[in-house]
Amino acid sequence: MPSLIFRKGLDLKHAVAGMLADNYHSAIVERIKAEDFRYRAGRLTVHLAREFGFCYGVDRAVDYAYQTRERFPDRSVFLTGEIIHNPHVNEKLRGMGIRFLTDAGEQIDALGASDVVILPAFGVTVAMLEQLDRRGCTLIDTTCGSVLNVWKNVRRYAEGGYTSIIHGKVWHEETQATASQAVQYGGKYLVVFDHAETAIVCEYIRHGGDRDRFLEHFVRAASPGLDPERDLQRIGLANQTTMLMTESLEVGELIRQAMVDRYGAEDSAGRYQAFDTICSATQDRQDAVVALLREQPVDLMIVIGGYNSSNTANLARICGASRPTFHIADPECLISAGEIRHRPVGSKTETTATGWLPPAGPISVGLTSGASTPDNLVGAAIARLTEFCS
Ligand code: SF4
Repeated sequence: MPSLIFRKGLDLKHAVAGMLADNYHSAIVERIKAEDFRYRAGRLTVHLAREFGFCYGVDRAVDYAYQTRERFPDRSVFLTGEIIHNPHVNEKLRGMGIRFLTDAGEQIDALGASDVVILPAFGVTVAMLEQLDRRGCTLIDTTCGSVLNVWKNVRRYAEGGYTSIIHGKVWHEETQATASQAVQYGGKYLVVFDHAETAIVCEYIRHGGDRDRFLEHFVRAASPGLDPERDLQRIGLANQTTMLMTESLEVGELIRQAMVDRYGAEDSAGRYQAFDTICSATQDRQDAVVALLREQPVDLMIVIGGYNSSNTANLARICGASRPTFHIADPECLISAGEIRHRPVGSKTETTATGWLPPAGPISVGLTSGASTPDNLVGAAIARLTEFCS
């Protein structure tokens, strides 16, 4: 029997609203927002970015997960993996008895028609959806509308004979799901992560090259059967929704210019399409932090969010370009006025730094958080800073 799919929640929004508020809201954050995003306590001033924290897609996904638990109290409820990239939220869901298919011992093949599976905000691959459908589970689809918009563009590219070049992280669930849409609609894809990989693609577009070396480089990032000779002649550009906007624009421009160089301005116009698929929430958070850095005299920046959260890492990159920046996963990373656990910008590992907060005198701290970070964590971080500076 095919799966029953809920895509618009379970009509229990009001029933879970109190629980969500208890778990994720913060009175101090609400107060700071009302007071022009500024907070003062003794020698400490905190400047909050004007857009931060839960985006509309995450808000909805977490809401639907709570509704699911409420609606099916006696059935096994699963997530395909992390619902969003925030350890605190994922742990809360575990605490409600929601199981993770990525955990040891769990497998899709063991699921049956009585099981309920929540699909995350960044979507799942076509293959996983088909697998779940075969098991006949009840599905709660929380895929964000902005991700669906990327898929729409990628499908259109595929149907029009364009190879999708996706500016994204090939290891990220959203990009894997997006890439699978291209294949499902008969197209090809290639994922590029940064300028260096874009340069390899541009070189091939302009001059051709060693096909095997090219495919070896993109072995995990290219669709099966991709032939760069044939499949880079018509290109459609898309982005993972949470990339750095400025970088995505540069990637697009580099590829467009390579197509112009290879085919001439007139011919290349029909061979290259681009749609900005960075979501508005990501864009708003990036714009807000740029404005904060420009307008406020902050001595250092704290960025709160999961280390595997793409949009949080990009907020930290923006901050790190002009200020000492500490990307922390949660408030407990603020160990003391002398010690902080954080992941340095561009690094893959957490480290502990000392002497991060000036021991005396006025201190101005800029604060923002990723789209998957609840306000209560921001509030707790502010409480710790207050304690350290008192
Ligand atoms: S970051 Fe953007 S695409 Fe991802 S869930 Fe939030 S709004 Fe949707």
